[in-house]
Amino acid sequence: MAKVSINIATGSVQKEEIIVGIDLGTTNSLVAFINPEGNPQVINDMGKGILVPSIVHFHPDGSVIVGNEAKEYLISDPQNTIFSVKRLLGRSFNDIENHKDLFSYKIIDDDTESLVKIKVGDKFYTPIELSGMILKELKDRAEHALKTSVNRAVITVPAYFNDSQRQATRDAGKLAGLDVLRIVNEPTAASLAYGIGLNPNEEKIIAVYDLGGGTFDVSILKIQNGIFEVLSTNGNTFLGGDDFDQAIVNYWMGQNNLVGMIHESSLHQSSLQQALRLKAEEAKKALSTQNIFNGFVGEIPCAITRIKFEELISDKVQQTITCCKNALQDAGLTIQDIQEVVMVGGSTRTPLVKQQVSEFFQKPVHDQINPDEVVALGAAIQSDILAGNRTDILLLDVTPLSLGIETMGGLMEIIIPRNSKIPTKAGKQYTTSIDGQVNMKIAVYQGERDLVKENRKLAEFDLKGIPPMPAGFPKVDINFLLNADGILTVQAVELRSGIKQEVEVKPTYGLTDNEVEKMLMDSIQNAKEDVSQRMLIEARTEGEQMVYTAERFIEKNKEYFSTPEITNTLKLIETLKTTLTSGNKDQILRRIDELNEFTRPFAERLMDQAISTAMKGKAIE
Ligand code: ADP
Ligand code: MG
Repeated sequence: MAKVSINIATGSVQKEEIIVGIDLGTTNSLVAFINPEGNPQVINDMGKGILVPSIVHFHPDGSVIVGNEAKEYLISDPQNTIFSVKRLLGRSFNDIENHKDLFSYKIIDDDTESLVKIKVGDKFYTPIELSGMILKELKDRAEHALKTSVNRAVITVPAYFNDSQRQATRDAGKLAGLDVLRIVNEPTAASLAYGIGLNPNEEKIIAVYDLGGGTFDVSILKIQNGIFEVLSTNGNTFLGGDDFDQAIVNYWMGQNNLVGMIHESSLHQSSLQQALRLKAEEAKKALSTQNIFNGFVGEIPCAITRIKFEELISDKVQQTITCCKNALQDAGLTIQDIQEVVMVGGSTRTPLVKQQVSEFFQKPVHDQINPDEVVALGAAIQSDILAGNRTDILLLDVTPLSLGIETMGGLMEIIIPRNSKIPTKAGKQYTTSIDGQVNMKIAVYQGERDLVKENRKLAEFDLKGIPPMPAGFPKVDINFLLNADGILTVQAVELRSGIKQEVEVKPTYGLTDNEVEKMLMDSIQNAKEDVSQRMLIEARTEGEQMVYTAERFIEKNKEYFSTPEITNTLKLIETLKTTLTSGNKDQILRRIDELNEFTRPFAERLMDQAISTAMKGKAIE
């Protein structure tokens, strides 16, 4: 099938363009490529370092800084300095509600299932835009170091990322001006970096242990015919090297009687704590190769031995081992089934971690490659495979264009992404948007553009006879099955009633390689605009929904509110309505936020009211 590469600058199709591999991490990100000798190599742009801290700082003058320089603003300007954005990618506020204290910047609480947004000054950013900024920095560094334009990439994600997180990562790539050839699981990339899975005759079960800055995960993979299957994953998204640093800080505070003293001034406190944390990280790293660390923060002596450090973190390390046990159990395997163990993440440099993992799996672990580089190196190998440069590896048939359906506002929602190996199947669940809706239109499209009207329509059918239910109640599963011959079967089932409808199409029918190339080129040239337009449509849809709910809310509960409260709410609704047509995404989001903030106490009051009415009811009985 067609495999096309396009030089965005010239618009010409080329054969020998560099494809980079990108590890977009929670703590650090980096980029790698295949050097002329055919080996994977990480990019170090002009001695700026290999690891780019995944931090974005918004300067008052409007400029955006990414990486080490941005890190310095974590202390002096935390509200305008965004870290750990990967934790928010493709997530709704409800997903992260319990952890919102961990973020020093403002995350918009709109109490819904829609994706989170971050407020900096009076602008709103989605995690997709912020990740796009990090990817842009990596692209720039790669271009600078390699002295050529870099337009295509493979980006890695954790094995446990869901569809929406994967889609968000793709979109971030688009915003950065990158044609994302494939999203690859981090453990798969790490395994490739060690050459595991490169031989098509190889059959293996391996464990990949990844301990980063703030997250831990372990994946059990089955490798067969060059295909990596994730048998199980386990982990803790709030456990990592940061906890090791904190353990050292706590120890030093105890040693130096700082625990009481630190309350004096809150500003002083936070900068002292931050300074201690940085020193602690330095100590931790030193203790990976030496037995004792001696240092100072100002006048405060900061010393620690490796033995003490290991005692402090042993619980945390033990927790990761418990996760390994659970992962094995979920995969229905025992330790004896695991043939190789791969170590990933900067924190696996800590000797105790290596030792415990090796002891648990009863074999030596792979730690020869730098654990903070191994994922990016593997991603570069994956891109080399996709480029067809490795003749020893059989490149399986892939879908040349993405397949998906139309959703609210005429948007394309991808079900099977381009470059997926075939045969493949994928599905998503949808619901109705109107009370009593009995039909649902399902329109199937092919292409890379964000708006369906720019893509190629393959089929359209109605799922008829949904029993009347309130909006949001029906559960409609839409499944795509693409068989080895490239025939796509689209099936829609309403799960509550069991009604079902199906169509079959051949996506490549009547499509020449040249047309595929043209469709890809159009999508790349319009990528940024497309994503912005999509975000606008999403904001507008959200705004329309908000207007609908707020109007109904006021109408139904008039008696509980004062006249000024009602007039002000209606005024805010009106302002929101007028901005909906404005085409200004930020303004729409700001109005939604205002209306939200204003009406939130009402909802709470109503809740109290309902509870007290209910209690009264009981008392009368
Ligand atoms: P992520 O995948 O979360 O982006 P990394 O794999 O880059 O993160 O890991 C970052 C973590 O690794 C940090 O907590 C850092 O302190 C830790 N780390 C880096 N070098 C060492 C070392 N030599 N010894 C121990 N920990 C280290
Ligand atoms: Mg990582």
